[in-house]
Amino acid sequence: MTDRQRIAFVTGAASGIGRAICVSLHGKGCRIVLADRQEDRLAVLAGELGADVFPLALDITDGAAVANCLGRLPPEFRDIDILVNNAGHDIGGRTRFDIGSADDWSAIIETNLIGLMRVTRAILPGMIERGVGDVVNMSSISAIRMVPDQAPYSASKAGVHMLSDIIRAELAETPIRVIEILPGLTRTNIVASRHRGDEEAARKYFERFGMALDPEDIARCVLFALDQPPHVQIAQMFVLPTNRG
Ligand code: NDP
Repeated sequence: MTDRQRIAFVTGAASGIGRAICVSLHGKGCRIVLADRQEDRLAVLAGELGADVFPLALDITDGAAVANCLGRLPPEFRDIDILVNNAGHDIGGRTRFDIGSADDWSAIIETNLIGLMRVTRAILPGMIERGVGDVVNMSSISAIRMVPDQAPYSASKAGVHMLSDIIRAELAETPIRVIEILPGLTRTNIVASRHRGDEEAARKYFERFGMALDPEDIARCVLFALDQPPHVQIAQMFVLPTNRG
């Protein structure tokens, strides 16, 4: 990857996996748009990273805000080379389908699938016009492995899985690569939010599975995929924890 001049746009940048990806890309010399709805956490990250970042308060479920997001960027951040569609939501997504709430389903699908589509729609035309670009979609192992009690979340990620395949096929004649990352359980805030902020429940959840990744493990995989020569496209990467180490 010729990082020095590359510009990345990362959603869900303020926390967990997105934050780790931003730290890694910044370390590689990228200029980064840090996009998230958590303005305070964004400001902290921007302060930590220093130069070459632009914090962008953005809720990816807000269609108008997403459509206009490039216009809010300084010119030197607009020619995006790397889009990391990472923002994700899972509150209330872990319950039996028949007792789940339709409001929770909407929030999950609106963020994880429609929001990702909107951001891609806003940024992809510029990549196609300039003939450069990598789109990294943060899917999940839940997209392809059935786990009861997480129907809306898994359905949203299955949507991202298929969408990634279709966009990759549609862009096959262009230099743009579409990279889908499918992480297993990773130690981040989303697990606490699944339990509506109950840290103790989140801790027990991690204990039940016994194994989990760290956000930095996923960031390393993203960098590996981006670092391949242009004729190599890592289409899908499954990343699972082990009991070793
Ligand atoms: P975190 O909650 O730590 O980070 C997600 C970030 O995205 C948060 O800052 C969150 O803000 C933000 N966000 C959520 N909704 C929106 C929105 N509508 N607009 C803008 N920003 C938003 O979670 P992770 O780092 O774990 O999640 C990153 C991605 O990885 C997600 O797509 C998730 O589904 C995926 N993933 C995570 C796994 C895990 O086990 N952790 C496993 C597999 C995939 P807020 O705090 O307000 O919600």
